[in-house]
Formats: sequence, structure tokens, C-alpha cells
Amino acid sequence: MLQNKTWNQNTIKSGNKSLVLETIMNHSPISRANIAEKTGLNKGTVSSQVNELLDEELIYEKGPGKSSGGRKPVILLFNEVAGYSIGIDIGVNYIFGILTDLKGNVCQKKSLTFNELSFDGIKATLFKIVDFLIASAPSSRYGIVGVGIGVPGATDKNGKVLLAPNLGWQNIDLKTIVEETYDCPVIIENEANAGAYGEKKFGTDADDIIYVSVGVGIGVGLILNGKLYQGNNGFSGEMGHMTIEANGARCRCGNNGCWELYASEQALINNTAHFGIKNEDNILEKMMNLAEEGDQEAIKRFKAIGDYLGIGIINIINSFNPQYVIIGNRMAAAKKWIEQPLLEKVNHHALWFQQRQLQINFSELSAHSTALGVAAFSIEHFFKFYNA
Ligand SMILES: [Zn+2]
Repeated sequence: MLQNKTWNQNTIKSGNKSLVLETIMNHSPISRANIAEKTGLNKGTVSSQVNELLDEELIYEKGPGKSSGGRKPVILLFNEVAGYSIGIDIGVNYIFGILTDLKGNVCQKKSLTFNELSFDGIKATLFKIVDFLIASAPSSRYGIVGVGIGVPGATDKNGKVLLAPNLGWQNIDLKTIVEETYDCPVIIENEANAGAYGEKKFGTDADDIIYVSVGVGIGVGLILNGKLYQGNNGFSGEMGHMTIEANGARCRCGNNGCWELYASEQALINNTAHFGIKNEDNILEKMMNLAEEGDQEAIKRFKAIGDYLGIGIINIINSFNPQYVIIGNRMAAAKKWIEQPLLEKVNHHALWFQQRQLQINFSELSAHSTALGVAAFSIEHFFKFYNA
């Protein structure tokens, strides 16, 4: 159970207060006078809003700051430990969860792997991780402000998972299921969208980012003009199912020759016989170990994945003209073997003018992008709710 339920009892009606809070969050430490300067609010208004925020423990005072002459001002800081957020990344064969403070600093994390689980099995694993993270949260004024969950599939704007082919899920109202258990706001988002948002918030400050999440499937998150692009119903980025081989193998989505069959962990999982690896956990890790030992066949498989990733990414680059392409999720760990073939493909085949100022990177958030992204969504939801 949550530590408290105050999240739904506190609402700030004043737009001024949210402006003051945002200014403190973005410019902390800051004095009252500087807040007035930055916001254009008069000092009396700033002072009364600051007093309320102090009462609500969302900010705290530390004194005295640097003076520009005269009395030294007291400075104000954002109290990022006034509450905590949970971010969960449901993969096809793992669940990874983090607990963050209100600034997105990771305080705790937990990961569990599984293989071919039923929905109930995955749900039990999910609850185990959420329970652990709730139990490990330090006590705070607002407790857990929300749980964000990234899933590898199409989610609608009401938190329903319409289709997650690699989990075998269809029409699952995950938001309601989790809310009924934990009694706090829950946000469900496609894992690649969440990952793109995590990269935007904690990785790079570019405005046009393509986040290619490569796990057992492939999802693509688009940050366009600085904003997450979700499409009309929230279904953007299903590029793992774009056709790469016209006469290719059958995909679980019903189409043939989908990108993710050739460029994700699935390409490894479907071809393990040669290596004597049984269809079990950690195939990616086992293949990386083989490649590390110099196994030429394993290296060849990774090169093929790099080639196919490059081919799909060329199509995306030509469509969106991004500044950054970021390869994230589990396959990013195989950077050593897939980066070179991927870059060569793009360099040789993407339209030359698309390559101006283009950067292709592997995520530096060490597969935390999705969890960080959904945790950030929950924090923003809390403040919007709070500021409603
Ligand atoms: Zn498909």
C-alpha cells in the first residue's frame, strides 16, 4: 500500500504558483528577487506563492545566498525528495523498474527476466517489482506520485494495450488493472515513445530525435520539434513492422518480412541451432559472449543485424530528417559488433543531404531510457494534477 494518498487532496488553483514552482525547479538555487525578475511577477505575489510552496514542502529555504549589495538573500531550492515516481519497462523477456525522486534521479532499481509467460505471470512479476520499489521508497510528504509503465506494443490514450504481439496481449486495460491494485495514478505508454522521451529529458537536448528501441522487437519513438509525436490515436512508431524483405518470413503481426524479424533479438533467437544454444533466457548475452571470444559465426550474425538496422534507419532518416538517431534498449549492448556495419549502410545509402549534421548514437542511459521516460511522465502528471 502507498504511504499516503495526499496526491488527490492537493490542488493549486493558481497559475502563478505553478510558474513560481517551475522557475525554482529549473533555476534552483534562486532567490525570491530573481524569481520576480524571471517571471515578471511582483515581489508580493512571488512571496505569497513561495510561502505556500514552503508549506507544501515542495521547496525549501537555504540561506544566505550571494548578495549583489545590501542584505544577503535567502535562496530557495526545489525539494526533489517530496515524493517519488516509479518507472517500469516491460520488455518481451524482462521487466525493469526504477524508483526516482521528483527530479528523475534514480534511487532504486530492480529487474526480473522471464520466458513465455502468460498475462497473469507477467502481471505477478510486475506487481513484485512495483511492491519492491514502493517498499524501498523513503518516507516523504507525497509518497509515490505515480506509476508509469512502458509496454512493447500499441497503447491508446486511455492506457489500454491494444496489441503487443510479442507478449501475445490484445485489448488489455493495464491502466485500470494497476490502478485498482495501487490506488495511485498510472500512465501506460509505448516503450519506444517513453524511451524517446527519456532520451530527450536525460540524454540530449536536440529537438528532432528518433529513438530506435531494439529488443526482441523494434519500436521507434519520435521527438519532432521538441515534442513526443504520438499520432492521432497514439500508435505512431510501429516501424518494427515495416516491410524490409518483400518475400520475407511471416511475422506475428500477420505481415511478411517485417524489419524486427531481421534486425532485433528475434533474428538471434530464431537462429540459435548452429550455436547449440537452446531457446531460453539471455540469448543476446550468450551470443555476445561468443562474439567476445572471437566466434566468427556469432560476429557474422551481429553484422547482419547491424546491416538490417542500417537499412531500416535509412528509411526513417529519409522520412524525418532528424538531428539524432539513438539506438536503445537491449541490443545497444552489442554496439561493438553492430555499430560499424550500421553506420556503413547509412553512409552509403541515405540521401547525402540527409546526412548533414546527423548523428547516430547508441543510448548512454544504459537501457534505462524507457523507465526514465515513464517515470518522468508520472512526475509531470503529478505536477499538472497538482497545478490543476
Ligand atoms: Zn510484423
